[in-house]
Amino acid sequence: MKKHIVLLPGDGIGTEVIQSANEVLDVIADVFNHTFTYETHAIGGCAVDKYNNPLPQETEAACHKADAVLLGAVGGPKWDQHPSHLRPERGLLGIRKSLDLFANLRPVKGFSKLLHASPLKEELVTGSDLLIVRELTGGLYFGQPSERQNNGESVVDTLAYTRKEIERIVDKAFQAAQLRRKHLTSVDKANVLESSKLWREIVEEKKAQYPDVTVEHMLVDATAMKLITKPTYFDVIVTENMFGDILSDEASVLTGSLGMLPSASLREDSFGLYEPVHGSAPDIAGKGIANPLAMILSAALMLRFSFNLKNEAAIIESAVEEILNEGYHTADLQVKNGQRVNTAEMTHRIVEYIKSES
Ligand code: ATP
Ligand code: MG
Repeated sequence: MKKHIVLLPGDGIGTEVIQSANEVLDVIADVFNHTFTYETHAIGGCAVDKYNNPLPQETEAACHKADAVLLGAVGGPKWDQHPSHLRPERGLLGIRKSLDLFANLRPVKGFSKLLHASPLKEELVTGSDLLIVRELTGGLYFGQPSERQNNGESVVDTLAYTRKEIERIVDKAFQAAQLRRKHLTSVDKANVLESSKLWREIVEEKKAQYPDVTVEHMLVDATAMKLITKPTYFDVIVTENMFGDILSDEASVLTGSLGMLPSASLREDSFGLYEPVHGSAPDIAGKGIANPLAMILSAALMLRFSFNLKNEAAIIESAVEEILNEGYHTADLQVKNGQRVNTAEMTHRIVEYIKSES
């Protein structure tokens, strides 16, 4: 298979971890006989420095032509005092919008070696492995009008969705469930909100198209509780923008290792932008000690969701699990009797595992 990938390293440790993902993709290409070609472009703070623009036009154009995009991280204290149009985050928001990425996927998996760091009891999170599919372009964050009225004495925010917007995110979630354990929980507040009632109707209509997936509806308050009391219950959760924002932060702390979380932002076709959940970590940037695993797992998501390369994605995920089980870890992870390694060594271990398994 031939694919063209745009790399956007960005700032801070973004440049370090994207290098790791690149090495892992190269070994995957080698072993499975694929051709991955790459193009690197500037985004965020580095683009402000070089082009006085956090999202240069050539970066945007290159992303539009690519099969998928891998992004490291943007931002850092150097640009904190810049005017808002020259902030690094503007680059990230701009590229998401330009590419019409409406679905945000965040898998949360409890790696057994790291579960002792969870705020929940280890036996409660053991085996937890869920995926949150969040709608990203509608709902309260984009409703019209959002404003103060009556001399500031009252406020209005609008939760608006169109049928088409709900259908496309629900389709993405069903498709993601088909690639996993085939259990979909659609989260809403249908006892109160009209938007949630339409959401429920659409999920009910859609389920005939995905007969292999079991679907249920759950209220968002009950979901928030169940994520803590029984996180292993869930496979795929799909929900609207704000509920998804809150639930994905809640879910992300379950496993106790923020540096391990990948994410995908998708649109209707197979194209996607993949990035770690963590930021540019200016405190450790340039030291070569960043944990590359969230970025490497993001590359695995790219293989699965954009290129439909399931075995290739799975071998990367097994490599991460196995290398952690062997005790190797970067400085951000606490592992008893483990061996601390730097970014390059961790990447090397993953690469060697993939070679040895195939
Ligand atoms: P942003 O605003 O971009 O999200 P932030 O400072 O809020 O930035 P991070 O950049 O994710 O958040 O960093 C939070 C903390 O976690 C920092 O102490 C950082 O060093 C650490 N950290 C984040 N990612 C990693 C990683 N991949 N490896 C090691 N440590 C990390
Ligand atoms: Mg942050």
